[in-house]
Amino acid sequence: MLELEFIVEKDRLKFFCSFFGREYTDDLIEESSIFLSKVKRNWQENQSIFENRSKVFFEGLNFGPSVKVSILPEYFKLGCSNTDDRLILFGQPIRSKNFSSAIITHELCHILLKSNGYQNPPIIDEVLAMLSELPFYRNGIDDLDKIWPDAELDEFHLAAKKIIINNHLSLDKNFRDHIRSLEKTLSKDLLAFRPKVGLLRNLTT
Ligand SMILES: [Zn+2]
Repeated sequence: MLELEFIVEKDRLKFFCSFFGREYTDDLIEESSIFLSKVKRNWQENQSIFENRSKVFFEGLNFGPSVKVSILPEYFKLGCSNTDDRLILFGQPIRSKNFSSAIITHELCHILLKSNGYQNPPIIDEVLAMLSELPFYRNGIDDLDKIWPDAELDEFHLAAKKIIINNHLSLDKNFRDHIRSLEKTLSKDLLAFRPKVGLLRNLTT
């Protein structure tokens, strides 16, 4: 059983306010707490999706200790993880009914692959993480394609999305089988593809 701890952190809110050049006010705590309730409730309602429909995909991964989900206002547009700290930052506008749970699962996938010692080419990790979002969308790949329009993705995430669409990847297969077949089928260039390092250096998207 995977434990998630949803929190609002004043210091982190202050950090991102100065990072984005916004003024910090205590209202942000209240605002983030309201958003936290919404995100947490969605996770509780959909935990069965994670536990049942993603079962085959995640089989064999050790979930380990709890993962912190630090909630920020939606308009901060952050969805990323610090895999070493088992920390997820979530502050994204909700794009579909179960969007927050999909993104949390995406970030969990990055954290679990890292904590279980997998050192895949980054594009493979990204494909697996994006793939793990699918059961939270009513129309699977079609929704993934619409929720993440090409124009909104950087080249790295766009490449990951295209790999999923073009190969009709699904969660019916275990992540290790996906790794094995992606290592065989992806071009050398894709396997060497590295995401652009942004200002949030220690955070992977
Ligand atoms: Zn990712």
